[in-house]
Amino acid sequence: MYIACPKCDWRPPPDTLWTCSCGCSWHTFYTHGVCPECGRVWKETQCSTMYGCGAWSDHEDWYHDESDLTVEEYIANPQRIQIDVPVTGPTPDADR
Ligand SMILES: [Zn+2]
Ligand SMILES: [Zn+2]
Repeated sequence: MYIACPKCDWRPPPDTLWTCSCGCSWHTFYTHGVCPECGRVWKETQCSTMYGCGAWSDHEDWYHDESDLTVEEYIANPQRIQIDVPVTGPTPDADR
């Protein structure tokens, strides 16, 4: 299991700090998104604006299993996430 931004695959180093609205700074993945000061639950976690994409993502989406396809693999193989739907044109009413 590893932690990475679900959008850009940035992996926060252990010294990364997130700041709560109460002013507390802590590593949000040590507490599963819960502020140790005020107990606020951060259901969404922001990516690093300096090293990552800066986007907010669901906290759970940051946890990845090693066996899962990584974001890089998805980007490299976009056809994997596309559902293969055959293109069908308008059909004639002949068999009605
Ligand atoms: Zn707080
Ligand atoms: Zn990101």
